[in-house]
Amino acid sequence: MCCFILPSIIPYWFWNESLWNAFFVCAIFRLCFSLNVAFCVNSVSHIWGNKPYDKNILSTENKGVSFFAIGEGYHNYHHTFPWDYSTSELGWKINLTTLFIDVCAFFGLAYDRKTATKETIKMKKLKNCISETTKATT
Ligand SMILES: [Zn+2]
Repeated sequence: MCCFILPSIIPYWFWNESLWNAFFVCAIFRLCFSLNVAFCVNSVSHIWGNKPYDKNILSTENKGVSFFAIGEGYHNYHHTFPWDYSTSELGWKINLTTLFIDVCAFFGLAYDRKTATKETIKMKKLKNCISETTKATT
């Protein structure tokens, strides 16, 4: 219903789009696009981007993926601090998923959100930086 029927019927009904166009653009194209964006989280974000939290893992921070995947591209952070519900230290910046969870928490629908402390993040970044510098000088 939410994947094919409503995205096809709404444009057809409310702004006189042809049913064929509404189906192929609003249902099929949207589904293909969003699936490929979701796949990019575990492919593109494991190849291209920077590694400010842990350089020894494959996952990276990729702003392009974060934008299209509404926040899931902060993948180096996510793999470094997997218990953090936000998947980022940046709050709502390019991260609508965190905004959604926070709104749910405001209404009591989400609770016990775990997050890495600022100090923990700072120490991890510093450790990552030091090991990078040490490696460069040896
Ligand atoms: Zn991953």
